[in-house]
Amino acid sequence: MSELPVVVVGAGPVGLAAAAHLVERGLRPLVLEAGPRAGAAVAGWHHVRLFSAWLELVDPAARRLLERSGWTAPPADHHPTGAEWAAGYLEPLAEALGEHVRFGARVVGAARRGRDRVVDAGRDDEPLTVHVETTGGEERIPARAVVDASGTWGSPNPLGGDGLPAVGERAAADRIAYRVPDLVAEAERYAGKRTAVAGSGHSALTALVALAGLADRHPGTHVTWLLRRGAVGAAFGGGEADQLPARGALGLRAAAAARAGHVEVVTGFRTGAVEREGERLVLRSQDGRRLDPVDEVVALTGFRPDHSWLSEVRLDLDPVLGAPTRLAPLIDPNVHSCGTVEPHGADELRQPEAGVYVVGMKSYGRAPTFLALTGYEQVRSVVAEIAGDHEGAERVELVLPETGVCGGSGVFDAAEPGSGGCCGGPAVADLTLTAPAARP
Ligand SMILES: Cc1cc2nc3c(=O)[nH]c(=O)nc-3n(C[C@H](O)[C@H](O)[C@H](O)COP(=O)(O)OP(=O)(O)OC[C@H]3O[C@@H](n4cnc5c(N)ncnc54)[C@H](O)[C@@H]3O)c2cc1C
Repeated sequence: MSELPVVVVGAGPVGLAAAAHLVERGLRPLVLEAGPRAGAAVAGWHHVRLFSAWLELVDPAARRLLERSGWTAPPADHHPTGAEWAAGYLEPLAEALGEHVRFGARVVGAARRGRDRVVDAGRDDEPLTVHVETTGGEERIPARAVVDASGTWGSPNPLGGDGLPAVGERAAADRIAYRVPDLVAEAERYAGKRTAVAGSGHSALTALVALAGLADRHPGTHVTWLLRRGAVGAAFGGGEADQLPARGALGLRAAAAARAGHVEVVTGFRTGAVEREGERLVLRSQDGRRLDPVDEVVALTGFRPDHSWLSEVRLDLDPVLGAPTRLAPLIDPNVHSCGTVEPHGADELRQPEAGVYVVGMKSYGRAPTFLALTGYEQVRSVVAEIAGDHEGAERVELVLPETGVCGGSGVFDAAEPGSGGCCGGPAVADLTLTAPAARP
């Protein structure tokens, strides 16, 4: 089996980093990417500026590989946009990996060859088999290990407050965006319009700041920010206390936009229904509150992992987060609201199906605090284990920044899991903003 490739699913930052580590250890990676290029998911948020600087966005093994091909690292302290991360790092990295990366290859299944999930007999003697769809047809690729770095970008959470689509949400899909709007390309859709933004993470703050900027230039642009939590609290993030300063600054800008009256904040609003009223949408909460009609809705309520193509391998996932069970307690946003996570690796990520690992954004399941740096350390450890270097796999080489985003949901778009924070960090804004009165 050792002659078979290690299949890495997804050519995002973490999948490509895994491939670089594999090459460095003399193993053969095969990265299968559904999209047409490296960082296909990152391209979906090309216009968003990262709160991490380049220093935290380049994997060490990837850097070594790239530098051998004459690549020059971007300025360490610069914060790229998604487009710049892809063009300046992910695409050159995929190029340096050459034939180890295949695009337009969607993984639709993984199984032990000839054995469904139930069968024990002979299981350990068979390789894993990866089922792939390409424009050329179906393929079955035998693999010595499968590293699932397929992210969660493809499965955003719905607007509905209970995690399922609200009544009427699907029918209103033409007016609901589940991504941070690109207000250069899509200015017309939002300029001079009323927009409701739902969510409390980094993406929601980014959208609020961008829409507030649009409101400055286009009178009549109105933004309502819907929070499921009962008070604004720490929703504006860690501010100046945030160890990722760009992220703190974003929260400060969003708070300023709210103070300037560009953003109306509605708290305690869990969407239960989306109704059409003429050309507009009316949102109703699960407790019967009705908001003024809006033209557009931007739902930034987080992401969830899709495990459907892993249905025939044996997984051990946390029932709450959908993260590997041993990782879940380290990242549960009900407990750890600060994004602080103990370093972890192969031990926490390996699955009962030998040779299967879930890494990267997907390994966090529904927890919102994933950082690329965490993913790079994960794959360093996982690849060490696949290479048989158990000591290397157990070694911890990660120092993560803490965040001041405490007392609430964390960095990204968690669905308001609890209000108790673990780290007692400050909230930057203490806005006393109340929901509009209930209307019939
Ligand atoms: C708006 C936004 C801003 C962020 N900012 C930061 C930041 O500043 N700092 C930071 O550290 N982190 C940040 N993150 C978090 C995280 O680092 C990124 O999401 C990062 O892209 C995750 O990398 P990944 O490789 O795990 O997954 P992804 O980047 O999502 O890559 C997964 C890849 O797998 C492919 N794929 C999916 N399914 C399949 C399949 N079945 N078969 C084949 N291919 C498949 C996708 O097309 C994609 O290319 C941010 C995330 C978002 C959404």
